[in-house]
Amino acid sequence: MAKLGRELAAKGVDVISLSLGETDFFTPDFVKDAAKEAIDKNFSYYTPVAGYPELRKSIAAKLKRENNLDYEFDQIVVSTGAKQSLANAILCLVNPGDEVVIPTPYWVSYSELVKLAEGKSVFINTSIDTDFKITPAELEAVITPQTKLFMFSSPNNPTGAVYSREELAALVKVFEKHPDIFIISDEIYEHINFLDKHVSIAEFESVKDRVIIINGLSKAYAMTGWRIGYSASSKEIAAACDKLQSQITSGTCSITQKAGVAAYEGGLDTIKEMREVFLRRRDLVYGLLKEIQGVKVNLPDGAFYFFPDVSSFFGSITTDGDVIKNAGDLALYLLNVGHVATVSGDSFGDPASIRISYAAADDKLVEAVKRIKFALEGLK
Ligand code: PLP
Repeated sequence: MAKLGRELAAKGVDVISLSLGETDFFTPDFVKDAAKEAIDKNFSYYTPVAGYPELRKSIAAKLKRENNLDYEFDQIVVSTGAKQSLANAILCLVNPGDEVVIPTPYWVSYSELVKLAEGKSVFINTSIDTDFKITPAELEAVITPQTKLFMFSSPNNPTGAVYSREELAALVKVFEKHPDIFIISDEIYEHINFLDKHVSIAEFESVKDRVIIINGLSKAYAMTGWRIGYSASSKEIAAACDKLQSQITSGTCSITQKAGVAAYEGGLDTIKEMREVFLRRRDLVYGLLKEIQGVKVNLPDGAFYFFPDVSSFFGSITTDGDVIKNAGDLALYLLNVGHVATVSGDSFGDPASIRISYAAADDKLVEAVKRIKFALEGLK
């Protein structure tokens, strides 16, 4: 959808893109300064595969400081982004035929990475009516002797759902009954959380050894292009990820790593400012989306997305006589007629919804929702 939007924009159409999964902020100056200094000081050589020890230590310190989690530096493997850390962990853990339980909607790459590992994704469907969260009973119901891994993100992309401590505790009770299941906890949106403090499932001692935390700097420090992420896990899994990564990419960019140390040691002020802005935008867009008839929307607790259920429009006819059969058709219609790029929910395993990112300036958001409303009102 982003590509189609760019093509339309290249033809001179004023397209508002709400399709991308990245913030519209700039990387903080103190992080950029550290990168410039690293270049000048000639940090231009291969780094250790799992990252400079200095960086791994600063991540371990972050985990203690912000999450009250104890990890030693050799339990941290730095990579070229949370995506690579996910790939490392999945390829290390999942053997052909293993089942991986994934609540839907999920981030697009989850199921594709499971396919790469020749595993089988087992989905637990959620809906807007339950704020896109699973229950312990739903989890228990899909577990089989083949279940190797459970994988989720909180805050969630694409729904913004955030599991509370109580909700995680209830899921942990299920995992306690199944000690062979690993848990990938994707916490890349940790700091874009409008509830209380972020809770990691690794805070539950009974499962910590089998949790692989995935995180990075892409979202919190607006560093998507710098390519840096990490996993925090048992030493055994960390060693396996290190071995795999050594044959695929080696350590991530040396300059990025030095910038990463500055980010982790530089305090949370810029993140707090960013979160305030996202909170304001969330409330703004929520108010506007609620006014559109046929759009079912909930108030997300984190990340920077809305994931409204738009299934009431399926079967509608456009002014050109085309039928909107599904979320893909609707997203395309919104792009071609409303000139707003969104993403069809199919990519996230939910065919009833579209994803709208609110990582854009307030005036663009207001204009975009106005256009969406106008386009939807034109459907018969
Ligand atoms: N996990 C989730 C839930 C994401 O939304 C994204 C990016 O959009 C990633 C992981 C990948 O992050 P990175 O850019 O650090 O590879």
